[in-house]
Amino acid sequence: MVTAAVSSTDDVRARAEAALAGCGVELAAFKGDTLTARTPITGAGLFGLRADTPADADRAVEAAHTAFLTWRTTPAPVRGALVKRLGELLAEHREQLADLVTVEAGKIRSEALGEVQEMVDICDFAVGLSRQLYGRTMPSERPGHRLMETWHPLGVVGVITAFNFPVAVWAWNTAVALVCGDTVVWKPSELTPLTALACTALLDRAAAETGAPAHLNQVLLGAAEAGERLVDSPRVPLVSATGSTRMGRTVGPRVAARFGRALLELGGNNAAVVTPSADLDLTVNAAVFAAAGTAGQRCTTLRRLIVHEDVADTVVERLVRAYGRLPIGDPFRDTTLVGPLVNQASHTRMQAALDRAAADGGTLVAGGERQLAEAAPDAYYVRPAIVRMPAQTDVVREETFAPLLYVLTYRDLDEAIRLHNDVPQGLSSGIFTNDQREAERFLAADGADCGIVNVNIGTSGAEIGGAFGGEKETGGGRESGSDAWRAYMRRATNTVNYSGRVTLAQGVNFSR
Ligand code: NAD
Repeated sequence: MVTAAVSSTDDVRARAEAALAGCGVELAAFKGDTLTARTPITGAGLFGLRADTPADADRAVEAAHTAFLTWRTTPAPVRGALVKRLGELLAEHREQLADLVTVEAGKIRSEALGEVQEMVDICDFAVGLSRQLYGRTMPSERPGHRLMETWHPLGVVGVITAFNFPVAVWAWNTAVALVCGDTVVWKPSELTPLTALACTALLDRAAAETGAPAHLNQVLLGAAEAGERLVDSPRVPLVSATGSTRMGRTVGPRVAARFGRALLELGGNNAAVVTPSADLDLTVNAAVFAAAGTAGQRCTTLRRLIVHEDVADTVVERLVRAYGRLPIGDPFRDTTLVGPLVNQASHTRMQAALDRAAADGGTLVAGGERQLAEAAPDAYYVRPAIVRMPAQTDVVREETFAPLLYVLTYRDLDEAIRLHNDVPQGLSSGIFTNDQREAERFLAADGADCGIVNVNIGTSGAEIGGAFGGEKETGGGRESGSDAWRAYMRRATNTVNYSGRVTLAQGVNFSR
């Protein structure tokens, strides 16, 4: 099923203008001709903007560093008050922010609103955290000594974000960094500058209303070069970079070369195992959202389904039927479930992967065709594809950032886990089973090797309460909930001697 037409570029532009104005962005101040804000809904340019130069990036880092000098000694619960106000403002502007996410990333309304909710949730989490930045105390081996750990702010955090979560990933980093006493310089994707301006305006307002220092969060618009300044700046002790593994391969070593810290959240190639005991209604429902939702453009998108051979034909048949009923089209329409790919390059990469899969013996059983090309010739709507593969070939082992699901079959669970882990990435995974032994085996140390391992849940749609991130080429970083905050602080081990005597550790005697 395909929905009729798509909004006109003028309508989309008007919606973006209204949303920006509602969030307090004076767009005129950012106009220029070195960066174009586009929409994947029609593929058209909306506004000409001014990209920040390397000199602008240096100034932003300096301003954020100056703000840090005040912010680091502001009590953490007071820092939390700023994040509390930010969360309120994000909730109040939920509709406008979601509009901008849809305009720039092409997310359907419900997912765009969900992404804004994720920002509100992480603000709530961070406010609580502002009173819980606990250090440990340990028993000292020396009499009259106290041994403890204290946690201190790090400095300016460089936050580089990807197009597909244009606001949530910024909020994961920024809400936590701010309560930890850090300041932020944000380099959003060049594909989503407008959402970044809106979030920044709301944070600036929250800072002004709560008496926080100015310049706690600076935004740098533009392509990779602006981000590269953050990567190389010795004034930026932590670079939290979300995007492709290709980007991480450049960023990681450059930050390490200056002994900075990198928190990398990179590509995934997520799989779910379907066992013969699985509830197939639940499995198919979960798999359709995980594989086709967000038009396959989530880092956690389900890209491989590893199905037991006894149920493979049934599962594929039911998936194909469900895919046939997916409404594809304008993400602003309430009925749409699959919006556009972000741009032509994404479409080209999806077609190339389909060709390679066919050359490797794969059988296309659903989708792959472009849709709405007449109504929106510069936009790229596609029908989500399913390809049955005889083996896990190179193309399956790569992340193609599009709605392309490979189906593989297995005979026993060891083989399924081997296939599951035999990819370079390690982000998210799931098993569908009603057999607890299988579930436990998948969760065990020799089970799935990912940062996120689920049972009877698809690979996408994590909650903010847990730490989020993945292993291997996904980069090893953890953001968001649990104790991910530790990455944003430096730890000091303190030993206090109140004994009035010098006692050396390990019984060393140095008396003269
Ligand atoms: P991308 O790598 O093209 O760009 C991501 C960001 O990195 C952009 O802001 C870009 O300008 C910047 N960048 C690129 N090269 C850089 C460099 N050399 N120095 C500094 N900055 C640089 O990714 P994308 O197409 O925007 O997003 C899709 C990718 O992101 C997918 O691979 C997806 O899996 C991944 N992703 C991962 C997570 C996660 O949490 N693991 C979350 C979202 C997206």
